[in-house]
Amino acid sequence: MAFDCYCAICGVGFCGMHIEAPSETALERRRRWIEKRCRALQAGKDLGQVSREGDETEDPVRSYDPRIVGWDNISWLYKAHCLGVNENAETGATKAFISDEGYYADIGEFVVKARSDGDRPRSQQVFSCYGHGSEEAPGPVLPFHWCCFEILIRTITGSTEIKNINLDVLYSVMTPLCNMSGSALQLSYGDDIQRAQGRYWECIPGAEYCATHPMDTPQLEDFVQENAETNSELKTPSAELDLRGREPASPFGRLPLEIVYQICMLLPGDSLKALAQASLNIHIVTQDNLFWKQFMQRDMPWFWELQAAKFQKVSHDLNYKKMYMWLDKMTAPRYGMDDLKLIGVANRRRIWGVCEELADRYSKSLKQPSVSSMQWGSG
Ligand SMILES: [Zn+2]
Repeated sequence: MAFDCYCAICGVGFCGMHIEAPSETALERRRRWIEKRCRALQAGKDLGQVSREGDETEDPVRSYDPRIVGWDNISWLYKAHCLGVNENAETGATKAFISDEGYYADIGEFVVKARSDGDRPRSQQVFSCYGHGSEEAPGPVLPFHWCCFEILIRTITGSTEIKNINLDVLYSVMTPLCNMSGSALQLSYGDDIQRAQGRYWECIPGAEYCATHPMDTPQLEDFVQENAETNSELKTPSAELDLRGREPASPFGRLPLEIVYQICMLLPGDSLKALAQASLNIHIVTQDNLFWKQFMQRDMPWFWELQAAKFQKVSHDLNYKKMYMWLDKMTAPRYGMDDLKLIGVANRRRIWGVCEELADRYSKSLKQPSVSSMQWGSG
């Protein structure tokens, strides 16, 4: 039975991407389709419910918006590599390997074409994704897009050097996560991705961001820079806190300021926002502009344009708390996103989240005594 497999890292497919031909009627139909679903999401419904309600008078839209994605920026999805193990590796040598570039064929098969050039010509290789192995590799192989792998390396090692990563360990933490249907890993890829991972990849209108190249984001840096310079909303100082004689009373008040500062710095953004609302003490600590400048850097490691941005050096009148809140909102991956400047980084942020789950397992596994060679049955 034919079926699709999905990238082990980002959860998106390797084929079957459909982009609608541009036409006024089609775009209007698409707009109504997405608007209805955005309203449903806001009302707390799930999208499956909308389709089941049955008042749909129009044919379903099953393609991406040509104004948001084009073949040039989704071609990256078709190029795949895989991580597998080679049981014939010499003792002591790394067993896990990364294949050359190939493509997803069907029924779980990943193919690397024959190569005749170079010193060592090679015949075609066929691997079995998430499955029971093939002649080429005895265990399942994990297929991925190259740039997703680059994001993963960056999350784990802080650099883009593949040699800094232990592939055996990576393979051993990823394979137990294979899902029941053998089409992806059990990771939080996001609702829009989970919905699209059917027997075949479904091009859900309104979820174009997940097919957008996560690294190739040429307009992003200027967009951020421009807003830092001219968006007056981001310049106004935060409202002064009127204590009205209240004394902040919380366990944090008994700790040295630097410790409280460090605790706040380590919290995820949502937790910090909640804590600052609940605790007057934390609220006071986080009034500091420098705090937010540092927090923004720490909380958004996937936003490397931000680390390099010029405004980090020049802007004296920028309110970093507002800047953080604004960027946090603008770059959050969500259904219906259509801002070309932001969809790429939103996808990167989503993938980074998945990579953090893997990085966590990877670092725990590195600390454990090494697992002796794994054996895979051949069928
Ligand atoms: Zn991917």
